[in-house]
Amino acid sequence: MALQIVETIAALRARVSPRRSNGPIGLVPTMGALHDGHARLIRQARAECATVVVSIFVNPIQFDRPEDLERYPRSLETDAALCESLGVDLIFAPSVAEMYPVPLACRVEVGRLADHLCGRFRPGHFNGVATVVLKLFEIAQADRSYFGEKDAQQLAVVRRLVSDFNVPTMVIGVPTVRELDGLALSSRNQRLSAEERQLAPALFHALQKVQRAVADGVTSAADLKQLAAGEIPADSRVRLEYFELVDPVDFQPVDRVTSPVVAAGALWVGTTRLIDNMRCVPGQS
Ligand code: AMP
Repeated sequence: MALQIVETIAALRARVSPRRSNGPIGLVPTMGALHDGHARLIRQARAECATVVVSIFVNPIQFDRPEDLERYPRSLETDAALCESLGVDLIFAPSVAEMYPVPLACRVEVGRLADHLCGRFRPGHFNGVATVVLKLFEIAQADRSYFGEKDAQQLAVVRRLVSDFNVPTMVIGVPTVRELDGLALSSRNQRLSAEERQLAPALFHALQKVQRAVADGVTSAADLKQLAAGEIPADSRVRLEYFELVDPVDFQPVDRVTSPVVAAGALWVGTTRLIDNMRCVPGQS
């Protein structure tokens, strides 16, 4: 059947319900401006589920800076065309008023998982993410839900959300899709000028360098962070907001890398903030 776009919770539920008997429902939550990274999630959902729902919602309560929300790219028409070409069954594209008809009286509060990395620099961000994802889980009632490893801390928060609140969905993490020069695909990349685009892969290079160093036996987090900083060009348009090595489950920083860690960073390039991460395993590249 052809792609259907629905804007209300009632309409989504009415379309999803009769499809339950066909097999698993898959949910791919997004904020739109879809690219090949999203496409990878959608393809995997398509391969594993009888019905694929893509949600497109720029969630205001997860934005810590109003100008970021304002500038966030929106392109429902081209997003719908991509979804159609990938065999998506339903796009759920609610308005802010549909998702938040009245100010919330209750919301999800993320604990120490949000203390470091993006959580430290974006106050309230993960509370907003966890709250909207819980709402989307309740609305779509999907058997399987797909999230990108590109947002590693978000994926860890969603995994805990599901286990803490007994949400009956299986969370599936999907590897990061990159440009040929290593830059992780992101909807925010389209904001980069041509010159900024040249500078943007520096974070990928820093992560690669650290991954190799960990594989070669470097264990000091301080030394590894210094190696990462050395990959960031001395250019006034570029600023490393953070670079950390954290435990892959609780996302707390480690001083010594003696077991697998997630190396993660945020890089400002002009007025655009880019994030990326890589799993680093001692003795293994
Ligand atoms: P967003 O629209 O940025 O909120 O992303 C929606 C989903 O797509 C999230 O689960 C992201 O982690 C995932 N995603 C975004 N960029 C990529 C990428 N380059 N590779 C894989 N997944 C991605």
